[in-house]
Amino acid sequence: ISDSKISEALNQLGVKTENLGSSTGSNWFASGEELISKSPVDGVIIGKVNQTTAEDYEKVLQTAEGAFKEWRKVTAPQRGEIVRQFGDELRKHKASLGKLVSYEMGKSYQEGLGEVQEMIDICDFAVGLSRQLHGLTMHSERPGHRMYEQYHPLGIVGIISAFNFPVAVWAWNTALAWVCGDVCVWKPSEKTPLTAVACQKLIGNVIEANNLPEGISCLIIGDYKVGELLTNDKRVPLVSATGSIRMGKIVAQAVAARLGKSLLELGGNNAIIVTPDADIKMTVIGAVFGAVGTCGQRCTSTRRLIVHETMYDQVKNALVEAYKQLRIGDPLDENNHVGPLIDKDAVANYLNALAEVKKEGGTVLVEGGVLEGKGYESGCYVKPAIAEAENHFEIVQHETFAPILYLMKYKGGVENALELQNGVVQGLSSAIMTNNLREAEHFLSHQGSDCGIANVNIGTSGAEIGGAFGGEKETGGGRESGSDAWKVYMRRQTNTINYTTELPLAQGIKFDL
Ligand code: NAD
Repeated sequence: ISDSKISEALNQLGVKTENLGSSTGSNWFASGEELISKSPVDGVIIGKVNQTTAEDYEKVLQTAEGAFKEWRKVTAPQRGEIVRQFGDELRKHKASLGKLVSYEMGKSYQEGLGEVQEMIDICDFAVGLSRQLHGLTMHSERPGHRMYEQYHPLGIVGIISAFNFPVAVWAWNTALAWVCGDVCVWKPSEKTPLTAVACQKLIGNVIEANNLPEGISCLIIGDYKVGELLTNDKRVPLVSATGSIRMGKIVAQAVAARLGKSLLELGGNNAIIVTPDADIKMTVIGAVFGAVGTCGQRCTSTRRLIVHETMYDQVKNALVEAYKQLRIGDPLDENNHVGPLIDKDAVANYLNALAEVKKEGGTVLVEGGVLEGKGYESGCYVKPAIAEAENHFEIVQHETFAPILYLMKYKGGVENALELQNGVVQGLSSAIMTNNLREAEHFLSHQGSDCGIANVNIGTSGAEIGGAFGGEKETGGGRESGSDAWKVYMRRQTNTINYTTELPLAQGIKFDL
């Protein structure tokens, strides 16, 4: 452990950094090979966690199956009370967990804290939801009959998560799934196992204190091979998977092959449209934060800026000036704006994208590059870059998970900007900067943005937990978090009750005996 503050944070979270791996609640067992967690902040090994073997997985699944039989008997508001206690546990450990997120993933400490806050917020949301798992009632066509629908728990929910939101995405899923009466098996990213261990410790404390079955929350550790155990497992009716489009296509096929359900939250290629009526100051703040925040490693990061020709030079110059002020360095230091990429593979992808955009005819406005020297020993710190590019370039069509912003021009009406914005395979987040009501409404209309998230005078990056989160097209179509996203974690049942002494058949069918 490189930093005494991190070791203190781990201690406070109750995380020893060895002999941890698979877990059901607070029961730990581990027999697979060690997985090393290395910080992109300073390149130092933080800890080692044992991976889940096929035998470990079997033990986890059996424990989860047993726990589900008990957990579904607990009433939904009581399940909400457990989630409330988990939220309190997170409040108590917000600083330590936020610091560990920042150190293991490389995002700023403020963002690490923000991520834990999102977990707390979704717990609060789920507590309220636990009394609102409503179905509809409808009028029966048969006299003396009553018809309604209700929602029941699904069973075991598998959660596969990405490295960039190592803890919040799990909470978005699990807090809702728990109040819905499901139990969860979580496979976090192999790049961020320690934050997952910390979360499992915290929920383990709550489960133990309430004498509940430990299998309500389970953790399995490893790479895609461990993920495949979940996706191929018939005992797991729903797999919620967050990550790249490449991963989503494989997971979707595996789950569909056994007719399971999948909830997919995949890559984005998010654009901001800047119209002649845009507020320049807001545009620049939104675009810079969207492109360089979390070092361009948010699914909602701004990748493309589509600017009206009349505003183009002004926006371009303001951005180039703003980029000169960016401070790159240790994300735990609040003075820095941009931290590291997750690992050296990500650095290679970033360099490759910069080379590709030049090869395809783009012009680099703000040069990128890898930083070296004191403070940059991990080799994961890069300079945010801006390139003028065309939407049809292959590299622009592709999501590069790094701080590269592609600038492009449009002429004429907002519909031309929308052609470009929608002209990619992804459909996650989108934004328009305008003070023109007609443009804003056109952007939000059925002829407008084809994304799951469409914002006016806000950038593409980030979202509130109260709304349903997710995207269309190759982003996967899934919705998580707020609104009625909970319905995917339950099975719907239609019930018809006959309170007469007759048995009339539907559609007036006669069947005389
Ligand atoms: P990734 O696809 O490499 O890995 C994500 C997770 O999937 C990991 O836990 C990994 O082990 C697992 N996985 C990979 N292949 C698998 C397989 N065949 N079967 C089962 N599991 C498998 O993604 P990443 O690099 O960790 O994260 C970055 C990506 O995630 C970006 O594309 C980003 O846009 C996306 N993302 C999307 C959202 C969203 O809500 N739409 C949120 C966060 C990240």
